[in-house]
Amino acid sequence: MAEEENVQDKIALLKNIYLEQLPGRLAEIEQAFSISSSSEPDDARQSLKSLSALAHKLAGSGATFGFPKISETAKAFENGCEMILETGDLTTDRSINAVSGWMSSLRKSMENAGSVEVDHELLSVIPNDKINEGESGRVILVSDDGELTDRLTIELGNFEYAVISVSPDSDMDSVFSDNKPLAIVVDMDSQNEEGQALARIDDMAEKHVLDCILIAISDRGDLLPRLQAARAGVGTYLLKPVTATDLVDVLDQHSTLDSGEDIRVMIVDDDISTSKYTEIILRGARMLTEIVNDPMDFLEKVDSFGPELILMDLYMPGCSGQELAAVMRQQEGLSGIPIVFLSSEDNLDKQLIAMRAGGDDFLTKPVQPRHLISSIRSRVRRFRILRSRMVRDSMTGLLNHTTSHEFFENEVARAHRNKGKLALAALDIDHFKSVNDNYGHATGDQVIKSLTRLLKQRLRTTDIVGRMGGEEFAALLVDANIDQAQEILEGIRIAFSDIVHRVDEKKFSVTLSCGIAAFTGKESSEELLEAADKALYQAKHGGRNQVVLSS
Ligand code: GH3
Ligand code: MG
Ligand code: MG
Repeated sequence: MAEEENVQDKIALLKNIYLEQLPGRLAEIEQAFSISSSSEPDDARQSLKSLSALAHKLAGSGATFGFPKISETAKAFENGCEMILETGDLTTDRSINAVSGWMSSLRKSMENAGSVEVDHELLSVIPNDKINEGESGRVILVSDDGELTDRLTIELGNFEYAVISVSPDSDMDSVFSDNKPLAIVVDMDSQNEEGQALARIDDMAEKHVLDCILIAISDRGDLLPRLQAARAGVGTYLLKPVTATDLVDVLDQHSTLDSGEDIRVMIVDDDISTSKYTEIILRGARMLTEIVNDPMDFLEKVDSFGPELILMDLYMPGCSGQELAAVMRQQEGLSGIPIVFLSSEDNLDKQLIAMRAGGDDFLTKPVQPRHLISSIRSRVRRFRILRSRMVRDSMTGLLNHTTSHEFFENEVARAHRNKGKLALAALDIDHFKSVNDNYGHATGDQVIKSLTRLLKQRLRTTDIVGRMGGEEFAALLVDANIDQAQEILEGIRIAFSDIVHRVDEKKFSVTLSCGIAAFTGKESSEELLEAADKALYQAKHGGRNQVVLSS
């Protein structure tokens, strides 16, 4: 890890390699230009096709590495060749002169490339490694509203999120270098002398890729502020009054979807330097990548790598990106993986055709790294959500009833084999019906979510937590004996009863009851569940708000 150069250095290196390769590429193009007035039409056609393909590749990579002039002249060259191919005037003097003209502009831009200023715009927005290591529980709140800040600090604190409050006048640069947040919450209604607080975030996003969630809160629900927010990269827009649970929902979703596993992206592009460039950008944002330069290797590599998104070039020799997308969509296991086309094709009709073949998005080279990363993130997030829906309860994200049973069975079978320890806890919220009756169903849902959150927080990731029904949960604690389980569940019981729920001006608290059964080496998962349920029943009858161990 120590010898890892930073992203900027790597890109600079790649850019140099690209420059060094230019004379070779130029020679290749000059060699492909073999048309004269005496050429056979078929030969001329072949030559023009090669020229068009070579120019296309240059247009894409030139743009990517910050040489817009190369990209521009190559694009003109490509379009010109295509036009001649279409009209069929292959060997007329006019055509040959035109091709020579495009050729010489391209040559000039390539020869000058070494001395021109690189388009630094492109290189300056590389993800900032410091920000990437965002601390999971930190939330920066930008607001000049003291009351709002105090309230959210306390309420989010209940959910173990630490709020760092920042006034819109603060020096954002130092805030960011000192703190690596999971999220930034911007109060759209707060101002400083330069205008809206939001503008400050926009500045920051320009300087660094803000590798964290941006959430806006606002009094206004109309289009204009929403649009401003969207342009600043805000992913979630919440209307005031904002409750802690609204925010926690968004934060939790991100911390579970984003922190668990690194995003796996497959880069399919025949151009080696472009694919390498993309890889550096994505790795800088801590994604796992796999490059496929030969589309014929695609299926094999998809199977072994298991991507969550495919970044697909459009034009490749042997097989186009569009065709690969169609092949993927035929296969059950691959049909759900999002495909994002990344190509220098700027013809909208052609983009549309590619999208019809099963693309999810189309990005035109050169794409801003910040835009590329956020586009990938949001698609993978969606993919993960969709993928998990079948086994998870949609409201809480916990395993559903059926899946919980399956997992319990597996774990119990394993404990039988390994003579392992297990404890199974059954939980049920007390008098939940009256929560619904008094405060409404939506509030009831929030109470369920707050318990879910506690369970996720206090249990280990190896433990299995399921929502067994309405307000009933079960947790299988792996490698825990009954005393350890009791201690953990007591902690959860107390923490849950300490949460103050709010609706409008009203405040209330809720309790839960719990029964625990331990595995003694012989029970089936069904028997464990039954025993835990029986203990839960005793807890209810013993006055609720308690944890009872199965005898
Ligand atoms: P006890 O102390 O005995 O557990 O009483 P209780 O009121 O919690 O238990 P009961 O089983 O009588 O009522 C459970 C209630 O939970 C009834 C049902 O309407 C409600 N419920 C079930 N699922 C949901 C849900 O997803 N959201 C909300 N808000 N309520 C739900
Ligand atoms: Mg209940
Ligand atoms: Mg119940």
